[in-house]
Amino acid sequence: MKFASEKNLRMAIDKFPRIKLAYLPTPLEEAKALSEKLGGPRIFIKRDDQTGLAFGGNKGRKLEFIMADVMKKKADLVITWAGIQSNWCRSVAAAVRKLGMKSILILSKRPGLPADYDGNLLLDYIFDADIRIVEGEGGKAPKEEDIMGTVNKIVEEERRKGHNPYIVSVGGSSVGWSMTEPLGAISYTDAFLEILKQAKEQKIKVDAVVHASGSGSTQAGLAVGAKALGGITEVTGISVSGKKDAMVNEVYEIAKETIKALRLNMPIAPEDIIVLDDYVGEGYGMLNKETTEAIRITAETEGILLDPVYTAKAMAGLMDLIKLGHFKKGQTIVFLHTGGTPALFPYREKLLELIKESKKQ
Ligand SMILES: *Cc1c(COP(=O)(O)O)cnc(C)c1O
Repeated sequence: MKFASEKNLRMAIDKFPRIKLAYLPTPLEEAKALSEKLGGPRIFIKRDDQTGLAFGGNKGRKLEFIMADVMKKKADLVITWAGIQSNWCRSVAAAVRKLGMKSILILSKRPGLPADYDGNLLLDYIFDADIRIVEGEGGKAPKEEDIMGTVNKIVEEERRKGHNPYIVSVGGSSVGWSMTEPLGAISYTDAFLEILKQAKEQKIKVDAVVHASGSGSTQAGLAVGAKALGGITEVTGISVSGKKDAMVNEVYEIAKETIKALRLNMPIAPEDIIVLDDYVGEGYGMLNKETTEAIRITAETEGILLDPVYTAKAMAGLMDLIKLGHFKKGQTIVFLHTGGTPALFPYREKLLELIKESKKQ
């Protein structure tokens, strides 16, 4: 059942102001050698790793809407938080500079994950973001309440200094703090329309979009677009950290907000959200054999780089779903490459070790 036309959706999205930060549309290219190697469906890669903003990625798309909101609310500073190698924080650090502002990034250090000034953290430093690293007791991961405590403290300090900070949560996903509309998700409903338009031009019918799901707004935006236009495209989120039920709920909440913000007259249920948590491995940011294989095979067949934290897990998921026969010959799958490649470098030691092992087999 169709709840909106492409034109209706386009008009609803265009009501939200945006600032040009990304190179759009990103290419949609067929990965013939990869499809052949996997012996399954036709695979197209949507190159959101090429959005351009400071090495690209999905956050560039979200920030076009979010930074417009920052301007609208006359903020003079952006405060956000995430993990130490966060693509989101790096993208915020770059975007604020384009608007002549500064950012404060509250970055959580977690055991077992690289924490040196390399990859995204190096880039944050180059953009001269105000970097505040939080650590848990005894080198453990900081508790959620401690992170929020730090955020609150910093917000108060900055307000006392006379600043008007725009506060946005991890990934630009959940509505709350300064972001009163699900702007990250709206940018991905927009991306869904972009994919459909390119698919039409390339004379393909997209059976499924597969992508890495983290803070949930990429998936929420895509899922709302897909359902509104008749539900013929399956949207499969591969979780990179959360358990399935928690992720479904997160995405569902953002999807409800998105439907409201776009004024769509459409029901949505948790059953409409497909998340798989089988490819998380040992946890967020932890590399394993399957993720390394995904990086290696994609590089060797297509000359395309995946990142170790997100897209490699999503590709490991896609590869397994083909192996399991969930995606078959005759179907057409779009793999959404959400970026993240700066994180390859801080992972070099573990990557080298695992790639060596993988080549031996
Ligand atoms: C943030 C991110 C994601 C996940 O997007 P969400 O909207 O947070 O679910 C996927 N891939 C990369 C590379 C990212 O940086």
